[in-house]
Amino acid sequence: MPRPTKAQLLNIVEDAVRESQWNLLHLSPRGEHPARYQVYRGGKSVTVRVYIWNLTPGGRNRPEDEWRIQATKVDRFEQEPNEKTLILGWQEKREVFAGFDFAHHQGALGYSPSIQLRQAALDQALVDGFAIHGKGSGELAIAFRPEFLGTYVANLESLHACGQVPREVEMLDEIGRNAENAEGDLMAQQFAEPRRYAMLSVRRSLREISFRRRVLTAYGQRCAMCDIQLRLLDGAHILPAAHPDSTDETCNGIALCALHHRAFDRAFVAFDRKFRVHVNEAMATELEATDRAGGLADFRNALLPVLGLPPDRRDRPAPHFVEAANSLRGWRP
Ligand SMILES: [Zn+2]
Repeated sequence: MPRPTKAQLLNIVEDAVRESQWNLLHLSPRGEHPARYQVYRGGKSVTVRVYIWNLTPGGRNRPEDEWRIQATKVDRFEQEPNEKTLILGWQEKREVFAGFDFAHHQGALGYSPSIQLRQAALDQALVDGFAIHGKGSGELAIAFRPEFLGTYVANLESLHACGQVPREVEMLDEIGRNAENAEGDLMAQQFAEPRRYAMLSVRRSLREISFRRRVLTAYGQRCAMCDIQLRLLDGAHILPAAHPDSTDETCNGIALCALHHRAFDRAFVAFDRKFRVHVNEAMATELEATDRAGGLADFRNALLPVLGLPPDRRDRPAPHFVEAANSLRGWRP
């Protein structure tokens, strides 16, 4: 398999930003390296400078399980005020990124400089979404799946700075391996801000990524209500995540397109224990009465009569979540 070209690597970065639920604007001409972007979500916005190379095997006289980027055609890594610098490697086979710490790679780079990390971190990132590799002297390399890129951009300085403190390195490692259960330790220990906030962000993000992946895979990457794909899918919670009885189990999830996710959260559309799909007629009547029912007929036509369901029964919406969600949203379909 040929390695991606520089333009393809930048496309992979741009796709990953969107896959991680952030957006971007180009600040430099397309294909230029390093690339500059405005990366944003909600009210947050960050200017980033992205360096990226393919990860390649460590080379002669290096350990066999080592991968590296070779920072060719760059004299030094640059960073302007109010800008974040990303130094990334991409491993095409595993489809994971490696992020290296700008703070440890300032100054002239010299002839074909290499920056390494261990394969074990890439392997673990493929499984868990995120993994670290402490390189000694306080430098931390971070491996992660594309869906994590937005969280990495938002927290990269704090995450790499954890490399200075052994128990923070341990905590990050624990979060990567077991995001579901890393709760107690993270709360009990007194980690300094802003690194504690970064750890919490990583944990939240890994849980969201895991939930979304499981749900979309279970539903065959299709909206359960209209069968649409088009990369417009969300992993929606049936009982909202903010509810105390909500969980991240796949049976509390449903794959919905952006339109049906919004409609489901607004209780405009719902489904019952037999998975039959219903429009909220009271709400439809009210919309018609107030001249806001444009598109209603098409909306109805697009709905499947019964949810498109995962083949594995254990992944299907659990009745207690369906009941609780419908009663929470104030109506019984
Ligand atoms: Zn849909």
